[in-house]
Amino acid sequence: MKIAVLPGDGIGPEITAQAVRVLEALAADGLPLEMANAPVGGAGVDAAGDPLPAETLALCEASDAILFGSVGGPAYDSLPRPQRPEQGLLRLRKHFDLFANLRPALVYPELAHASSLRPELVAGLDILIIRELTGDIYFGQPRGIRQTESGEREGFDTMRYTEGEIRRIARTAFEAARKRDRRVCSVDKANVLETTQLWRDVVTETHADYPDIALSHMYVDNAAMQLVRAPRQFDVIVTGNMFGDILSDEASMLTGSIGMLPSASLNARGFGLYEPIHGSAPDIAGQDKANPLATIISAAMLLRYSLDQEAAAQRIERAVSRVLASGLRTADIAAEGEATIGTVAMGDAVLAAL
Ligand code: NAD
Repeated sequence: MKIAVLPGDGIGPEITAQAVRVLEALAADGLPLEMANAPVGGAGVDAAGDPLPAETLALCEASDAILFGSVGGPAYDSLPRPQRPEQGLLRLRKHFDLFANLRPALVYPELAHASSLRPELVAGLDILIIRELTGDIYFGQPRGIRQTESGEREGFDTMRYTEGEIRRIARTAFEAARKRDRRVCSVDKANVLETTQLWRDVVTETHADYPDIALSHMYVDNAAMQLVRAPRQFDVIVTGNMFGDILSDEASMLTGSIGMLPSASLNARGFGLYEPIHGSAPDIAGQDKANPLATIISAAMLLRYSLDQEAAAQRIERAVSRVLASGLRTADIAAEGEATIGTVAMGDAVLAAL
């Protein structure tokens, strides 16, 4: 099982190094993993004049999954758009048709104090938001700003989904629910938007193949409210690109700690790119301050969703829980006055717990 490791820029190399140590420990225990590094983002520009060098793409194509750090930084902000670090990530998403974005929002009981909600509402929260990433109003044509007959300017976009696009994301959600609590809530605005009426119909039809999964539907305005009222009611939430953009950011803030949140972007073959949701944090890069846990948990997701290694994924997640339960904290997740440790020491602690 081959993993392409693309550390990227800023804190990227520091945090991926810790995730790689964890994967190497599993390999030493008999899991047949092979890892190879390649530059991406600003590091790709420095190495080969391209945020996604040809050798990096070739390595990804020869691999079963990608572990991605983060890209970007002030040194690259004035480059022409095709050379900007984020193009490396966008081109990977497009090249591999990574249409399903999986964002868990998980609150470890010990970190419930970091949430903006009362701890008793979020302690033990474990939601998986699945957002369609390549369709919807963000990509639908026609779009633009035009002049109306009365001479006024008018902006317009087109919300569009084909039934094939809906069916494949619905399948991703039902399959993911099988690895969890077997409940899917599909979020739409079927009372107002035709596109999302089709969404509801196709999700319901697809559900016929998954009788072991409980399916419910919710309007997006209600979902936004329920996420802050009683977020623990959800297991898997599946929704379109625009609603998912908004709801996944809302859900991530329920956890209050950006350094803890992993993500996955998958295609229909289960190939995926796994990365923390945070950026390259130039303000703390190179200082051994970054929290590596979002990347380590991303590696656990990689094992679960692309390599089908559920037991190994759970081993990593249990190790992270034990480290948090033992009171070890990087600065971003420490409560006021709590002692803190650095990036490498957090990696050491996870390895010890593993
Ligand atoms: P950011 O996520 O990098 O940082 C926001 C804040 O959170 C900073 O104060 C940072 O120190 C802190 N933070 C982030 N990750 C942390 C971690 N693991 N441990 C501890 N603290 C952490 O967002 P930003 O400052 O808006 O962007 C910085 C750069 O990252 C920009 O160049 C941006 O384009 C890029 N970016 C990249 C990605 C990606 O690679 N997918 C995503 C978002 C932003």
